[in-house]
Amino acid sequence: MPLLDYIFPPQCAICSRVGYEICDYCLLHIPKALPSCCVCKRISTYGVTHKECSFIDTPLLSIKGWNMDDRYLRELEKKKGLNIYSIYRYLLFKIVKCSKLEEKISKSVIYPMYSESKDIFNLNKYLAVSLNGQRKKDGTILVGESLISLDILKEQIESIKKDSIKEILLITLY
Ligand SMILES: [Zn+2]
Ligand SMILES: [Zn+2]
Repeated sequence: MPLLDYIFPPQCAICSRVGYEICDYCLLHIPKALPSCCVCKRISTYGVTHKECSFIDTPLLSIKGWNMDDRYLRELEKKKGLNIYSIYRYLLFKIVKCSKLEEKISKSVIYPMYSESKDIFNLNKYLAVSLNGQRKKDGTILVGESLISLDILKEQIESIKKDSIKEILLITLY
């Protein structure tokens, strides 16, 4: 846990209520993202990449947490700028719980999503470590703040693609 998390007690990033990274009231008001294809962004059952959108043979699933508007994103950016990542971890674990991903995570190799931004890549690395997979080959999970560049994602998947991988799961907060 970053040092700053100890110095400052958690406080809701949106309404400043003490004791929460983001309080349930505020979180309820952020629209949840519907399962969608990570390539074309259109709705897709279970977040499976559409056949016509697919760029790899391995099934690629995407789970995205929320559709954040600028107001929320600004508050999160502030935290990221200060290297306070606890709210990001909190959001990630909300997704893990809601989507019942615990078992899948325990059997997967976890990678941080590449990013050209050092700040974002550092955050993604932190999120990947937080998930603490078991380095088993059953599954492959890529985790990150958000999918910014499909080209970078394709490059990364190309670099890790192995015949033994059954599916690749992409987890992003927003
Ligand atoms: Zn709040
Ligand atoms: Zn699609």
